[in-house]
Amino acid sequence: MSFNIAIDGPAGAGKSTIAKLAAKELSFIYVDTGAMYRTIALGLLRAGTDIDDEEALKKQLSGIAVTISYENGTQQVFLNGENVTGLIRTEQVSDMTSRSSAKPQVRAKLTELQRTLAAKEDVLMDGRDIGTMILPDAQLKIFLTASVKTRAERRYQEQIEKGESCTLEEIERDIEERDYRDSHRETAPLRQAEDAVLVDSSDMTIDEVVTRIVTLARERM
Ligand code: C5P
Repeated sequence: MSFNIAIDGPAGAGKSTIAKLAAKELSFIYVDTGAMYRTIALGLLRAGTDIDDEEALKKQLSGIAVTISYENGTQQVFLNGENVTGLIRTEQVSDMTSRSSAKPQVRAKLTELQRTLAAKEDVLMDGRDIGTMILPDAQLKIFLTASVKTRAERRYQEQIEKGESCTLEEIERDIEERDYRDSHRETAPLRQAEDAVLVDSSDMTIDEVVTRIVTLARERM
């Protein structure tokens, strides 16, 4: 049987950085489910879909195929066969993702893909509802969070390094809005599973968080 680790938490808590490193150390496959939701959002944006029109959404979704593969251990996402890994991190896609991922039709499309992957392989999967909905039997569940201030400062640094202009206040507001939407939606809201271990990374280094997760996993393997 495969060993599954679920890591959930809000945007900017460092999930993907930490999950990638921990997966590498454990020789697990890292599955970034956010990238899958982002791929669908990109497809919807390109088609100019009104996502609040249920019929239109259904029609568009039926023409969107999301697949993934691994190149040197790094997850690549494909939209109808096109590698869109480099196109899904813009603010426009982030915003559409947060809105479209609240739609049950969108979630249903990705649930099976995620479960099939986890059944076959030892995976470390990160997202919002992995421990609560997708892999309720995961052997280890982590809820990784950090204060809004810490998360905003981290994202601000990233944006500045990318040469994008923004203010810390804008980012803080954006994170608060996205947190609210992710945790208050009806379908699969972001919440900590009862049996998840809470890790607050506000005052921890990346290495400390990775070590904590790897240690917990090894104890249970
Ligand atoms: O993790 P990432 O920031 O890439 O996720 C982008 C968005 O996708 C989140 O804000 C959330 O709305 C959505 N998401 C989700 N369920 C997941 C992963 C991501 O709803 N399992």
